[in-house]
Amino acid sequence: MPGAATTEWLGIIAHYRNFLPAVDEACVVTLLEGNTPLIRTPGLARRVSPLVDLWVKCEGLNPTGSFKDRGMTVAVSRAKARGHTRVVCASTGNTSASAAAYAARAGMVCGVVIPQGKIAQGKLAQALLHGARVIAIEGNFDRALTLVRELCEKYPVALVNSVNPDRIAGQTTVAYEICDALGDAPEFLAIPVGNAGNITAAWLGFTRYFEAGKVSRRPRMLGFQAEGAAPLVHGGVVENPETVATAIRIGNPASRQGALRAREDSGGLFAAVSDAEILAAQRLLAQEEGSR
Ligand SMILES: *Cc1c(COP(=O)(O)O)cnc(C)c1O
Repeated sequence: MPGAATTEWLGIIAHYRNFLPAVDEACVVTLLEGNTPLIRTPGLARRVSPLVDLWVKCEGLNPTGSFKDRGMTVAVSRAKARGHTRVVCASTGNTSASAAAYAARAGMVCGVVIPQGKIAQGKLAQALLHGARVIAIEGNFDRALTLVRELCEKYPVALVNSVNPDRIAGQTTVAYEICDALGDAPEFLAIPVGNAGNITAAWLGFTRYFEAGKVSRRPRMLGFQAEGAAPLVHGGVVENPETVATAIRIGNPASRQGALRAREDSGGLFAAVSDAEILAAQRLLAQEEGSR
C-alpha cells in the first residue's frame, strides 16, 4: 500500500507477537499501550558519575498511566478468548485503573478489591469512571490479593493481577522496547519493586531477547523497595507495610521467587530507600529533566 503509514503503532500484542503468548486476532483488546519514550537524562547522570549514560523509560505515558497496561492487554485479551465476561483484581491503584479500562474496552465487568483508605484517590476515581465495581476491605493489599485469588477459584472470573502469567508475559515488552531503542541491552536496569511482577517480567524479557540473539548481554537488575515495605531487602514478610509510594506498599510479594532469581542470575542487588529519598528523587526528575 504505497503511502500507508507502515510504522503505525498498534499496541504490544501486534508489535511483539513472536515474543508473546498467542492471542486470536479477533480477541485482541488494546488501547495502543507500549511504545513509551526512552529519554536520556544527562542532568541526573552527572549526579551519579561523568561515565554514566542514564535513560528513563516513561511508563507513565501508557494509556491509563502505568506499565500495568502492557500486562493488562494480554491478560484481558486472553481472558476474552477463553470466553470470560468478568475480570477481577486486588489493587493499590494502578492495576485497578488499568483493569477497569481494558475491561470497559472489552465490554467486560471489572471487580476491584482495595485496601480501605490505602489507595491513591485519583486512581480510584479512574477505575470508577471506567465502570468498575469497587469493594473496599479492612486489611492491606496482601489480604485483598488472597481474597480475589479465592474468589477466582470458586467462580468463573479471570484474575488479572500479576500472579496471572499473561500479565507477566505482556510486561516483558518493556525490556524488548528498551533493547530495540538502545540497539542492545543496557548494563543495568533500576526498577521499583512491590509485588515483584514487573522485575520478574523485565528479567524474563531480557533473557528471551538474549536467547533469541537480539542482544549481546543482559543487564544487572537493581530492585528498589521503600524502607517501610522492603521484604525482599530484609527477608521475610512485612505485616504492616507503610510508604508514601502506594504502588509498592506491599509486604509479601507474590512474585518473590521471580525477583530473587532476577537478582541472582543477573548479579544484581536489592536496596531500600526512605520516603524522603523517594520524594526528593521525584522532585529531581521533575525539576531537572521534566520527567516524572
Ligand atoms: C505496580 C507498580 C509498581 C510495582 O510493580 P510490581 O510489579 O508490583 O513490583 C511500581 N510502580 C508503579 C508506578 C506501579 O504501577
